Amino acid sequence: MRIGAHVDSADPLAEAAVRGADAVQFFLTDPQKYNSPKPREDADLIRAAEVDVYVHAPYIVNVASPNNRIRIPSRKLLMAHARAAAELGAKGLIVHGGHVGSGADLAAGFVNWRKAFEYAESEGGLPLPILIENTAGGDNACARRFDDLARLWEAVGGFGAGFCLDTCHAFAGGEDLTGIVDRVKSITGRIDLIHANDSKGGFDSGQDRHDNLGNGKIDPELVVAAIRASGAPAIVETPGGVEGQSADIALLRERAGN
Ligand SMILES: [Zn+2]
Repeated sequence: MRIGAHVDSADPLAEAAVRGADAVQFFLTDPQKYNSPKPREDADLIRAAEVDVYVHAPYIVNVASPNNRIRIPSRKLLMAHARAAAELGAKGLIVHGGHVGSGADLAAGFVNWRKAFEYAESEGGLPLPILIENTAGGDNACARRFDDLARLWEAVGGFGAGFCLDTCHAFAGGEDLTGIVDRVKSITGRIDLIHANDSKGGFDSGQDRHDNLGNGKIDPELVVAAIRASGAPAIVETPGGVEGQSADIALLRERAGN
């Protein structure tokens, strides 16, 4: 069972080592900006490392947007990050499900997702799996409610899209964590990664506020159960730096077993 953390991008291998993590996730650029990743000096080391590497795409990426000044740059940025992540030997590029904005038709968001994958194919194909992550907020989000997720998967499942289940986002997004793995898999057929986070916000609050396991509103046993049932690697995206994340990793290792 691979368990790790989302860490600062400056020296992700050192951050993994100090946390006792065997998986690590980081951003390649400022998550709020449309910046293409630059080659990293430590690329060879990261590629050769024992730890499993995941890259999180910038938050600003929203390939579902009906606004072409957001959608087109998002598509290109996603492709640039996919290439850079593949250069590092990453197992997947995580990207949020996106949203269409208030008043817009969610159906357009699913069509735009399909177009993002078609664009990638026209550019030579994705060099690693894209893992679409469920989100906590936005009633017009593509991957908050699982009935919407099912419509999204009708659009993208045929392209080999992967799925990242965030326990905080599911809970705050209004999806019951009990039996969640089976419900997700009946839609997507797969869970590639678990983001194992507690939630400061309440059930269905729509708040994307991560907390350390056992500190928030989620019963940690439900997070553990999701990891066990999925058999997927888990990444904590929790606060508290080395100390807080190391404790979360230790808790998951102890209860989810090896
Ligand atoms: Zn997440």
